[in-house]
Amino acid sequence: MLNVLRNLVQDVNSAQDLKEALEIIVSRVQSAMDTEVCSVYLLDPDSNRYILMATEGLYREAVGKVSLGYSEGLIGLVGSREEPINLEDAPSHPRYRYFPETGEERFRSFLGVPIIHHRRVLGVLVVQERETARCFDEGEEAFLVTVSAQLAGVIAHSEATGAISGLSLTGEQAKDVCFNGVAGAQGVAIGEGVVVYPAADLDAVPEKQIEDIEQELALFGVAVTAVREDIERVAERLASQLRPEEQALFEVYLRMLSDEALPGEVVNRIRDGQWAQGALKQVVQQYVRHFEMMDDLYLRERAVDIRDLGRRLLSHLQEGDPQDRVYPEKTVLVSEELTPAMLGEVPRGQLVGLVSVRGSGNSHVAILARAMGVPTVMGLVDIPVNQLDGREMIVDGFEGQIYASPSQELRNFYQDICDEEDELVKGLEALRDKPCETTDGHRVSLLVNTGLMTDVVRSLSHGAEGIGLYRTEVPFMIKDRFPSEQEQREYYREQLEAFAPNPVTMRTLDIGGDKALTYFPIQEENPFLGWRGIRVTLDHPEIFLVQVRAMLKASEGLNNLQIMLPMISNISEVEESLHLIYRVYHEVREEGYDIHMPKVGVMVEIPAAVYQVRELADRVDFLSVGSNDLTQYLLAVDRNNPRVAQLYHSYHPAVLQALVRIAQDAHAVGKPVSICGELAGDPGGAVLLMAMGYDALSMNAASLPKVKSVLRSLSREWAMQLLEDVLLLDSPHVIKSCVDLSLRSAGFGRYLRPGKSSVTARPEPSHV
Ligand code: PEP
Ligand code: MG
Repeated sequence: MLNVLRNLVQDVNSAQDLKEALEIIVSRVQSAMDTEVCSVYLLDPDSNRYILMATEGLYREAVGKVSLGYSEGLIGLVGSREEPINLEDAPSHPRYRYFPETGEERFRSFLGVPIIHHRRVLGVLVVQERETARCFDEGEEAFLVTVSAQLAGVIAHSEATGAISGLSLTGEQAKDVCFNGVAGAQGVAIGEGVVVYPAADLDAVPEKQIEDIEQELALFGVAVTAVREDIERVAERLASQLRPEEQALFEVYLRMLSDEALPGEVVNRIRDGQWAQGALKQVVQQYVRHFEMMDDLYLRERAVDIRDLGRRLLSHLQEGDPQDRVYPEKTVLVSEELTPAMLGEVPRGQLVGLVSVRGSGNSHVAILARAMGVPTVMGLVDIPVNQLDGREMIVDGFEGQIYASPSQELRNFYQDICDEEDELVKGLEALRDKPCETTDGHRVSLLVNTGLMTDVVRSLSHGAEGIGLYRTEVPFMIKDRFPSEQEQREYYREQLEAFAPNPVTMRTLDIGGDKALTYFPIQEENPFLGWRGIRVTLDHPEIFLVQVRAMLKASEGLNNLQIMLPMISNISEVEESLHLIYRVYHEVREEGYDIHMPKVGVMVEIPAAVYQVRELADRVDFLSVGSNDLTQYLLAVDRNNPRVAQLYHSYHPAVLQALVRIAQDAHAVGKPVSICGELAGDPGGAVLLMAMGYDALSMNAASLPKVKSVLRSLSREWAMQLLEDVLLLDSPHVIKSCVDLSLRSAGFGRYLRPGKSSVTARPEPSHV
């Protein structure tokens, strides 16, 4: 059975479109289960009806014509109950509906299972039999459930592929199809999609239509000649060491490269307007599928050779690609997995939006995007990335949605939101030099989180009072080796100088989790619970010592450095780190540098640290809460995983209780406490944190003016009452709504999400 399932999934995966995918499903399931009928009905989100999309055994003419209301018939029953229904005599069931167009009256037994993807019912898969006596047995039911569960993702993906081209389930033109992901960075962008993908990865190559066919053909011709020559060279070199049957392999390769074979088919597709890389991908994938389906083991293994040839051709094509990537004026960068380095490749001022299949709102690339003020949507798991190159797109970073090829009406709607947001930001400029003080005189320091030099420039213009978190790993991530002490010294000096005499809190290297250095790969089963932050640097004192030395030397004459330790889970990590910092401090002074001992603090971001705040605070000068990690560890929700993004909630009562406790315990032993997680940059979060007594809030520069404006307009007493009220509530969603509602009634609705107040209603989108 497993084999049948594997082949089925593979074939469905490689179908050209949804129609073909569904036809493969019904015909293969029908033969695997030896039933008379197999059909698939999909729920059309626009009409909310189940449409018969493919069948084996019912009349084919009924496909696309027969449909049932959301809760109509047995199909509707399976969908609404979200579980299998297995009947020996379907026509006698009260919910049975008869459609003469299908020829269904001849069939009696019925087994229907829902097709569910991420809680959304996509449709129903049905098998039917003529004999009254036959009841599908448990094994058959389990098989169909397995097929449906495995195929739900593939079906969702194919549906999305059609939708990108503006097609509905039935192939009609659909308007403004909306794809749902997770909000990464607030704001709206309207621009052109540019797909970035890793080199020499055939599957990642996007589809692209070209005009200059001759140039593309020439490029491909050069690549084929180069690969042929490579293979001939290798064959010659190895000739004396190989037996004749082994040498024959090279001949097979060369035959595959002859004009009538693989290259001929690629050329045909290029002539149809596909660029060479896309045409190569399509042909290689088709060959690979073909070979993988063969029963003969020898032939099946030839799929590996085809892949290898494809990769070789692709890398020559990519090397020979004469066009330097031209980024449009308004670039929306789209990728399977965005990395900080990718953001840096787009010329200044041209990057307007970001879209990533992987990752979630608290992934580090989303945090970076927030710092840069680039609207971002993450976790668009079903989106066919390779279809988005060159398409006009809207990125709604407030709602976590994107639209491909939007209508003029929708574009106008979003343009109004962009204009309103610009106006709001301009209006806040006047607050730059004003203190962050509540109407009843309570002062809170507003600091910024930085990583890049551009953050610094932006932070200064937004009136930040210092840096609460400098993520030193960011400059490490955009290099191809560890930066030297001198290089680090230069990065650090820039940050320290820009803010002197105000404090600059530098966190020691916090790699691991989703922050990878290409030159220091860490492969782990469970990276967020693994070798991260201080655990790595204490195991590699040579990295830690160089970094601290660079920080101390950079601070000479400025004396505004503070050092912060990430991922502390026990006291001994603090003691060991302090020991190393003191050692470097004395050595650097002995070298003749006139430096002061910096304040040292720890991050409270692991639940264990919450319960040891007093012991930790006794040993250091300050504490800073990393609410991003604290939320993920308290709730056991991976901050990077879009599947569980809806469970990641910083307003969860457990998170709020922990935050209250940290502030109280730190103050009880007389130590200042700040927070540098994303919650501090959320206007509602900032109000609660101020009420809890946090001395400083550190956030991305873009959020700072909004937070300042809110905090300056209300009293601490009002905020404390709100805090008291929400601490009595037990649901994160209710707490969030309660905070939002209070802010709205206090007149801050426009900071939560612009566009609702003054702009006309959004044209109703279709959802995928
Ligand atoms: C945090 O965990 O809240 C934090 C500020 O650190 P990072 O997001 O870099 O892990
Ligand atoms: Mg952290």
